[in-house]
Amino acid sequence: MKIYLSVDIEGCAGIVAREQGSITGGAEYEMGRRLMTAEANAAIEGALEAGATEIVVNDSHALMRNIPPLELHPKARLIQGRVKHLFMVEGLDETFDAVFLVGYHAPAGVRDGVLNHAFHPYELRYNGEVFSETGLTASVAGHYGVPVALVTGDDAAIRDAKTLLGPHVGVSVKRGISRLAGDSVHPEEARRLIRAGAAEAVERLKAGEFQPLKVATPVEIEIDFYYSPEADVSALIPTVERTGDRTVRFTSPDALRAYRTFLASYYLARSVS
Ligand SMILES: [Zn+2]
Repeated sequence: MKIYLSVDIEGCAGIVAREQGSITGGAEYEMGRRLMTAEANAAIEGALEAGATEIVVNDSHALMRNIPPLELHPKARLIQGRVKHLFMVEGLDETFDAVFLVGYHAPAGVRDGVLNHAFHPYELRYNGEVFSETGLTASVAGHYGVPVALVTGDDAAIRDAKTLLGPHVGVSVKRGISRLAGDSVHPEEARRLIRAGAAEAVERLKAGEFQPLKVATPVEIEIDFYYSPEADVSALIPTVERTGDRTVRFTSPDALRAYRTFLASYYLARSVS
């Protein structure tokens, strides 16, 4: 039983500020990356207890070198660094039995979503609906026929996952108060909840309870950027059409190609923002 674990930071217990996830954040960041790593380890422990045999961890946040390798559970492999061709789902393919999302968060604009965004804090619409990183990750997993079995994050992330996914295990470790404030369980309690959730996810996976997310194809993505230059450079991509001062749109035949075009747009936009 092979589990793919994509780990973000904003949805972890005790994280409410950008400095806690930024390499320039000093002591705040050193604490943040440890909170993130401990939650990843809790998910790994729970999965192994319930019978998982192989775990691949993708460090999915920012520069993607947040998890200190020596502190990660020794049974897991670790994918880290940039540029990755598949970003938050690098290394995922059809050989996995399930995907776990740890430390995930709500899409841009959800008032109680702590540090809400989807890549950037702009609005991303996927087939007409505001979409989250959870949705993007699940869509690529679905392309490979792999279900999302576990989602951990704040209340808003768990709500978002419920609207997107079929049956899965959702574990909330934080109640959002605003984009920059939250009410978390103690990190030890977060680990206990995640470990139990991961074990439950593997048990239910064995029982065949989870289905891969299948998005409607072709996929249409629209992005409202913050600044017009981001749309200027994004519209240089052959399939991307400029539809407004700060808005672009493109259509892709499947979820994987949609994700890749979105990534191209993201990397280009970051070069001018
Ligand atoms: Zn994120």
